[in-house]
Amino acid sequence: MSQHLSREVPPQTTSLLDLTQHEIEALRTRFNLADAHTHQRQSDRQQKIVSRLPELWYEAEEGLQATYEQRFTEAFFRLHRQPTALAANKTLLSYAASISTMVAGMFLKQQRMAVTLIEPCFDNLHDVLANMGVAAHPIDEEALHDPDRIYEELRRRVRTDALFLVDPNNPTGFTLLQYGRRGFEEVVRYCKDHNKLLVIDFCFASFTLFDPEVTRFDVYELLESSGVTYLAIEDTGKTWPVQDAKCAMITASDDIRETVYNIHTSVLLNVSPFTLNMLTQYLEDSAEDQLASVRDLLTRNRELVRKTLDGTILEYQEPVAKVSVAWARIDHPELTATELQRLLYAEGVYVLPGRYFYWSEPGKGESYIRIALAREPEMFADAMALTRRVLDRHAR
Ligand SMILES: *Cc1c(COP(=O)(O)O)cnc(C)c1O
Repeated sequence: MSQHLSREVPPQTTSLLDLTQHEIEALRTRFNLADAHTHQRQSDRQQKIVSRLPELWYEAEEGLQATYEQRFTEAFFRLHRQPTALAANKTLLSYAASISTMVAGMFLKQQRMAVTLIEPCFDNLHDVLANMGVAAHPIDEEALHDPDRIYEELRRRVRTDALFLVDPNNPTGFTLLQYGRRGFEEVVRYCKDHNKLLVIDFCFASFTLFDPEVTRFDVYELLESSGVTYLAIEDTGKTWPVQDAKCAMITASDDIRETVYNIHTSVLLNVSPFTLNMLTQYLEDSAEDQLASVRDLLTRNRELVRKTLDGTILEYQEPVAKVSVAWARIDHPELTATELQRLLYAEGVYVLPGRYFYWSEPGKGESYIRIALAREPEMFADAMALTRRVLDRHAR
């Protein structure tokens, strides 16, 4: 190992404080497999949308803001098959999921609530809450792994007034949808019985659409009919290759709706009508091709990860929901994620070390790395070839 280290001195990334700081560094790297944003080119169908951009721009200049908001929201919830959310017509739009999360955080702070947050998860969620002065306690994702025990595990483990889940989870791809309605029903039943605010980040939900294994049922029907107090966050940001022109959403149960609305209007007035008009085209296109433009590329890159890691010290973890990131476990007595990340970075391949996803106990993440899949297949194949070369130096 020392041989390779002395051959080339890799830049220092161990002092970076969070995943986003890694992702910023990775943006300068040839093979950036760090951030889960979409860096692939347009599909043939999506190119047709891009060629109509001037038309969409002028159209958005002419119409009413409310029209573009309505069209966008309808297209989104229609694609996601969420008729109850569509009919409730109370979803608030923002520029980014982190803004919606901040609104949730402001609400928690205002209500003096601490939160129990799923672990592992993208550290940005924890950091946003922490920076807003909201205390977060971890709950291991494993607490949700057996539908018969969810209620009991939550009853035993949750000590705060709010429970914050990410479904499907980033990075693991775990989703309660694998149990049909049952998993969410148990979570909601627990929150209702124990008077807990349920916050759910659904930013990765588009990766469950058109997948028979994890079909998204009408989750808002369950939330609304149960009477649970909830905040649900949705997003477009990780799905379509639109250069981070995105729109996120937050929906609140009726009992807290006005309070949340008042916080929301302290943060923003509206999302760009041009962005909404453009995103609506992507949503409608994906409804037509059953998300093929998005899913086919991810499937192809995921297959290559599986093949590349086969027989190496990196064990590919098959996710329940085929999200846009791959999660792999290091099977080696000494090699940590921090070290492996550094070795790959020295070759120009930037992956994320798992420690940051274990936001309460980083050491637990030293056995995992995350690989982003929403990339051009040619570049991705070169990155995987390099990755394999590095891994082969560390045969078991
Ligand atoms: C990326 C991500 C966010 C934050 O999205 P931004 O567009 O960066 O604000 C929130 N939740 C999940 C699950 C994410 O993957």
